Amino acid sequence: MRSIKTKIIFSILCVVISALSIYEVNNYRNIQKQLYADLNDAADRQIKRLADGLVFPLWEIDEEWQKKIITIEMLLPQTFAITITDEDSSVIRGKMRNASWQMIDVDRNIEGHFIERQNDIFHNDEKIGSVHVYITPEFVEKQLHDEVLNHLFSLVYLSLAIISSLGIILNSLVITPLRKILVSIDAITHGDYSGNLEVTQSDEIGVLAVGVIEMNHAIQERQQTILQSKNDYRLLNENLELRVNERTQAFEEKNNALQVLSEELEKIKNQAEAANRAKTVFLANMSHELRTPMNAVLGFSQLMQKDKLLTIVQRENLNIINKSGQHLLELINDILDMAKIEAGRVVIENTNFDLDELLHSTIEMMRERAEIRNLVLFLESSSDFPHYIHADEFKLRQILLNIISNAIKYSKKGSVTIHLTTENLSVCDQCLLVFRIEDTGLGIAEDDLPLIFDKFIQVGSESDQKGTGLGLPITKEYIELMGGNISVTSVLNQGSCFTFTLPVTRISSVDVPQVSTHNEVKVLELAAGQPNYRVLIVEDQLENRLLLRNILTQVGFDVYEVENGQEAIDAFLTLQPDFIWMDRRMPVMDGIEATRQIRALPNGDKVKIVAVTASVFLAQRQEFLDVGVDDIVNKPYRDSDIFSCMEKYLGVRFIYENTENFLPVEKKAENDDILKKLPLELVNNLREAAISLDIENCLSLIEQVKNFDDDLAQQLATSVNQLNFKTLIDLLKH
Ligand code: ADP
Repeated sequence: MRSIKTKIIFSILCVVISALSIYEVNNYRNIQKQLYADLNDAADRQIKRLADGLVFPLWEIDEEWQKKIITIEMLLPQTFAITITDEDSSVIRGKMRNASWQMIDVDRNIEGHFIERQNDIFHNDEKIGSVHVYITPEFVEKQLHDEVLNHLFSLVYLSLAIISSLGIILNSLVITPLRKILVSIDAITHGDYSGNLEVTQSDEIGVLAVGVIEMNHAIQERQQTILQSKNDYRLLNENLELRVNERTQAFEEKNNALQVLSEELEKIKNQAEAANRAKTVFLANMSHELRTPMNAVLGFSQLMQKDKLLTIVQRENLNIINKSGQHLLELINDILDMAKIEAGRVVIENTNFDLDELLHSTIEMMRERAEIRNLVLFLESSSDFPHYIHADEFKLRQILLNIISNAIKYSKKGSVTIHLTTENLSVCDQCLLVFRIEDTGLGIAEDDLPLIFDKFIQVGSESDQKGTGLGLPITKEYIELMGGNISVTSVLNQGSCFTFTLPVTRISSVDVPQVSTHNEVKVLELAAGQPNYRVLIVEDQLENRLLLRNILTQVGFDVYEVENGQEAIDAFLTLQPDFIWMDRRMPVMDGIEATRQIRALPNGDKVKIVAVTASVFLAQRQEFLDVGVDDIVNKPYRDSDIFSCMEKYLGVRFIYENTENFLPVEKKAENDDILKKLPLELVNNLREAAISLDIENCLSLIEQVKNFDDDLAQQLATSVNQLNFKTLIDLLKH
């Protein structure tokens, strides 16, 4: 890299040389012009002198004189040749440089570039000849050449002088201060900030030096700051490390504490789970232990009621036993239901069923209670209320029973009305059932309204409280599980209105399994002409065994009894029974294991096995179904449950009490046809009257039936007179 100095010198030199060159060229021209002008002047003077000097030599034709004059003139260095011509211009003679006097052939001998002068020579106005001077510019050229050389040398000297002086000036003014600055910058670059750069000038270099010094200070400060930060950072790091260590230690301590806590929690959780399991086992046991004796109490009291030899007092006492038993069972069921809800064991079991039948049988069940309290039960149903639906039948029945029984329980006068309406949902076949149960009873205080769905809460005066306070919480849970909701409005001492909705699917009658119509009808005995069915009872509890034996032997079955599962297997092998009633919990071998083993024996798949269990838990019921029982009957059971189950699985036929009151199947079909001809309004009114047990209204409506079919009217009137409203309702339902 060429230094600045060289560059500056070179640049200045170029400028100087160019300027001088221009000046020199100009000067050269001027000199040249001057020299040529001088030469021309000299030529003019010389020709004049010659013309004057040669007049007489020519006139005298004195050649020697002529020669002499010319030779003298030839001494002038610029003169190349001088020729003389006579007046007739015939002879040209003269002298050329370095040659002697001679005749000259101008064209041949004088060649080149000359300044020429010619002058005629007169003597007394007579031309006597002419003189011609040839001046060579050689001399001028040489002079010019010398001049150029001189100037060139001066140029070189001048340049050298300029270079050296410029070099010195630049060195002291620019280069040395710059070098100092550079050295300082270099030192800074290499981390040496101690440099003591001095500012000696106030020009740009001085400004630069000040900049460098400031930069040095700035870097030094920055360095200081960085160093300080590094120090701080190191301190912070050390601090942080210390804190991290402290925290880690604290964390480890906390972790250890947490671990201990977690272990304790795990222990507590295990204990809680064990307690929960224990609760579940306890519930299962309670369910079994409470419901099993209830089965015997209710079963035997019902059996005894059939005894025709009972005195009136005994019958009344039995009634009390039965009612109290039923009430106790309801309370047990409530507590078990709540426990099941709390254990999250309640599942929705949807089936296809006859909603109409459910509603009427439920109302029928409630009617007696209502009548005892002098209350009237009304049912108001909209025409589009579905007849058959897909939903959880058991839970809906329980919901209705809870709300209607409350309405009756907490009303002293007036009526309980059940309004049934629907709202269609956007999904096809889906509809929202709206149930509104209105009573004219005690009502609920406004403050108590939000509490009534809380568990174990009973509101109102203590004398009015009946039950466990679980009915409504269970009802609410069931409704919400089924996708609906419940609300209540009430005015104290005027009545309450419970409204609940349920989304359900409408179905058609063909989708509903037909239920035996003999359900509630007393079985008298086995119909004749049937095989001798052998029935085995497997039950460890004496009372329950006796109860079931009594129910079965009363109608004529051959009954065998064993006390545990092992005995059941032995009895199956020797007796080959047609039907087995299998208890679940028994000593030696339980009912589930016994069923599994019997099903694995030859002919074990043919025998009908129905489990009898007091368990409310689905899982325990499922266990039975998994080993292959045909069905499960719940304890406590009614006679009718036992008989309809045998009717279903064994095909056994019974003779029923008051069979004549029930229409034979063929007659029923015939009546169905006639009923179709009756106006719908009449049928509905008659049915409403029957449901409301309104004898007078029924009979007056039957009068209208006479207009269509006398026979049918007669049959309907007989049913009303015998107070057999169920037959009437069943018939009209179709
Ligand atoms: P209980 O077993 O006491 O009837 P429920 O949960 O069924 O328990 O009802 C809770 C409380 O709500 C009852 O104790 C009663 O005070 C009040 N209640 C429920 N239904 C009615 C009603 N129809 N009229 C007045 N009060 C009612």
